[in-house]
Amino acid sequence: MTATILDGARVAADIRRETAEAASELAARGAVPGLAVILAGDDPASQVYVRNKEKGAREAGIRAQTLRFPATVTEAMLLAEIGRLNADPEVDAILVQLPLPAGIGSSRILEAVDPAKDVDGFHPFNVGRLVQGKPAPVPCTPAGVMELLRRENVPLRGTRAVVLGRSDIVGKPMATLLTKADATVTVAHSKTRDLPALCREADLLVAAIGRPAFVTADFIREGAVVVDVGINRIDTAEEVARCFPGNEAKAAAFAAKGSLLVGDVHPVDVTERASRYTPVPGGVGPLTIARLLANTLDLCRARRRL
Ligand code: NAP
Repeated sequence: MTATILDGARVAADIRRETAEAASELAARGAVPGLAVILAGDDPASQVYVRNKEKGAREAGIRAQTLRFPATVTEAMLLAEIGRLNADPEVDAILVQLPLPAGIGSSRILEAVDPAKDVDGFHPFNVGRLVQGKPAPVPCTPAGVMELLRRENVPLRGTRAVVLGRSDIVGKPMATLLTKADATVTVAHSKTRDLPALCREADLLVAAIGRPAFVTADFIREGAVVVDVGINRIDTAEEVARCFPGNEAKAAAFAAKGSLLVGDVHPVDVTERASRYTPVPGGVGPLTIARLLANTLDLCRARRRL
């Protein structure tokens, strides 16, 4: 079977365009949506993510500000900043970029964010509302995946879905959303027995484990839809040869850059087994930022009653 691509980049561009149109309507009514990002420490990947989020927000007509703190920041300083942002009427959405520096309790920080401004939907109040099926901000990555599946007409009702990974950020909310969409969902993790056989039962397989090209042909039922959330950097010639056998273009890119990005799903195996799949890069990644912008607008409307 030769799989076709679920085009996350195109769907993300559609969401961003719609968000920009809605933001300009809000601005015309005097409400410029405001997003504040807290970035603590110097994790290089976080620096890139935050720059992209800020740029995306500006392009959508959202007033974005990034508050940067050194790795030596204290929990008290971050809590004080969040208190200030909670009280600022121009700020509709607050995002705390994870991971936080060692020694900072991320739960205490995330729980300090006003649930009405919790753009990532990580506050326990919003997690509970989501599980109960009540309106709540939905974590951006699983929200983006659901939007992709909806817009690409992937059937969910009655299908068998396996979510590989059970993090608070991706796996758990993904399973909640798929259950809400009437899929029959199994959540698998590092202690699951006979993972390949379980995954082969899936009509829809969502991989979010952070292990490069871990999901190989033996995990994928012929004709399954495969969503690859993973973003992993590989930096050895052996890994590149395993992931992209005989691919001279990838070998050349690796030689030039010293590393390559790959998802949790083997990029060649998936094209031979799945019916449709999300590539890495260009699949789920762009949807996460698009949903962040859309969530910011949703919070703005709800908070300002527009
Ligand atoms: P995480 O918090 O590290 O969670 C990983 C999950 O995978 C855990 O539940 C873990 O199981 C499970 N797992 C790890 N190794 C496994 C194995 N060998 N077999 C089965 N399960 C295994 O990761 P995350 O934050 O969910 O992120 C997952 C991946 O998605 C990463 O590559 C991350 O970079 C990527 N990501 C991408 C986006 C995007 O925008 N595209 C957004 C967020 C994350 P246990 O619970 O048993 O430990």
